[in-house]
Amino acid sequence: MLSGCGLTPPAPAPVPASPPVVPDSRPASSPPVLEASPEPARVPGTYPAGSLPPIVQHGPRDTGSVSLTFDADMTDAMADRLRRGEVSSYANLTLLKMLEKREIPATFFVTGQWAEEYPEITRRIAGNPRFELANHSYEHAAFTADCYTLPQLPAAAMTEDVAKTFRTIEPFGGRQTRYFRFPGLCHDRAALRALAPLGVTVIDGDVVSGDPFARGPAPIVRAVLSQAKPGSIIVMHVTEANAQYTDDALPKILAGLQRRGLQPVMLSELLGE
Ligand SMILES: [Zn+2]
Repeated sequence: MLSGCGLTPPAPAPVPASPPVVPDSRPASSPPVLEASPEPARVPGTYPAGSLPPIVQHGPRDTGSVSLTFDADMTDAMADRLRRGEVSSYANLTLLKMLEKREIPATFFVTGQWAEEYPEITRRIAGNPRFELANHSYEHAAFTADCYTLPQLPAAAMTEDVAKTFRTIEPFGGRQTRYFRFPGLCHDRAALRALAPLGVTVIDGDVVSGDPFARGPAPIVRAVLSQAKPGSIIVMHVTEANAQYTDDALPKILAGLQRRGLQPVMLSELLGE
């Protein structure tokens, strides 16, 4: 993978940045955590705009908590497959129902195109106080060269791609964040510079479940339980046709985590925000 140094010039100064987000109808019970931040009501993941965003791999290792994160990818190619009827759904409702029924906290990294394809489901996620919403880009294009088979986003389009996703997701309300996850977890310095105006925190994760490539639930369960430790951020998908065994794997993952005394919490809670 290219390191990206000198690949693109820095973005020109006046980049249209979306203003800091103020949560609208938060449940009264969520305690605001204020550090040395100028914003009165700080959304989790907010980082001073203009600085390179921090990259988070995992939370504190001295807790008994982990975070289950679910990516909601939607590339142009996926949208085309839906239109042509080649797949029936990129929304894993069995998984969602299981999380709801068992009252498992989770963080959803949603692409703008997925939220537009599935507004009711996005509303359902936003309406659950145990779920929070994060940003996974608008069209799930790559922010670096050689990021799996994803088409590459031009450098000049990166800031707007992510800003547009916030504009798409924010009207759904609920627990909004300024967490961002790069498609394919691919990033370099140029990509980070493009996000600087947006005041976000980049979330990678230290446990990659491999669920989009799995041919059954067992490898997903194995991948997660062999890597998960206190503070882990676990990367999974809610994309059904692209990750069809995630719901089969989840009960065993939850049981395995419980055996080790690891409790799922929302990402913002894991990171103490
Ligand atoms: Zn993704």
